[in-house]
Amino acid sequence: MNKVIEAVNGVKIPQLGFGVYKIKKGEEFERAIREAIRVGYRHFDTAKIYGNEEALGRELQKSGNPREQFFITSKVWTTDLGYEATKRAFEQTCKKLNVTYLDMYLIHFAGPRYLEAWRALEELYSEGKIKVIGVANFEIQHLENVMKHSKIPPMVNQIETHPEFPQNELHDYLARHQILHEAWGPLGQGNKALLGRPELTEIALHHEKSAAQVILRWHLQRGIIVIPKSSNPQRIKENSEIFDFELTEKEMETIDRLNTGKRYSVNPNGYMVNP
Ligand code: NAD
Repeated sequence: MNKVIEAVNGVKIPQLGFGVYKIKKGEEFERAIREAIRVGYRHFDTAKIYGNEEALGRELQKSGNPREQFFITSKVWTTDLGYEATKRAFEQTCKKLNVTYLDMYLIHFAGPRYLEAWRALEELYSEGKIKVIGVANFEIQHLENVMKHSKIPPMVNQIETHPEFPQNELHDYLARHQILHEAWGPLGQGNKALLGRPELTEIALHHEKSAAQVILRWHLQRGIIVIPKSSNPQRIKENSEIFDFELTEKEMETIDRLNTGKRYSVNPNGYMVNP
């Protein structure tokens, strides 16, 4: 299971990861992570604001797999933006996860002082404490601003992306600038209207897959990193079984046409929405 995708600096990122936003704490969380590791996920996406870094770190360690086998992402929250504050936030995140380095660290939103925060990320990267540095929910103007004022351009932008909101313009921009596109909400946050679209169920039937698997496969074929979330063991497994079939060009185009412009993060500039 899985395929790797290379960041501009050559670091290998498993293209399928596991998102842990809003998984209920306690037994449900532990079971979900255990199951994810069991079926082969090694890439995990958390954030300070999710409040589960500590629990994630504990479960990864309990699995007995060596640290280097995991690809761990976390994010600096808006209230921690700034040079000193971001460095402190990074240390706290590492402490909670019980790790000495992060595979990927992202600025969660382009909030106040994100340029200073980026300078902190650049330094931590140069010291080898973060393998891949990036951003989330950044628009073209924010990316341009970082690139204009910094030494190292962002390597990844994690943004809301799904068939109803494919981010075509930003996707092309990221490709042109060698910034990897990572999708949050890759399944449209499980929206039943999307998952029940007849175009998707027809393609799914043809490949003997589910609509969710078809959507995830569409992302993979666009060169996007996906981090679907689920706490249901069947779905966790199902979402990982997306490397044994391929969508035709025509099927890709059919899914491209599901674009309605509907997004879940209400305001793209509002860093307080939908962390
Ligand atoms: P998602 O698109 O992954 O949808 C998750 C929901 O889809 C689940 O709660 C479940 O209801 C449903 N689902 C999952 N697998 C399914 C299946 N096989 N069949 C049917 N339904 C299924 O949405 P998400 O959780 O918002 O996004 C994924 C991850 O992205 C998060 O866990 C988090 O790590 C990250 N994220 C980042 C940001 C950001 O601002 N950077 C925002 C939101 C989420």
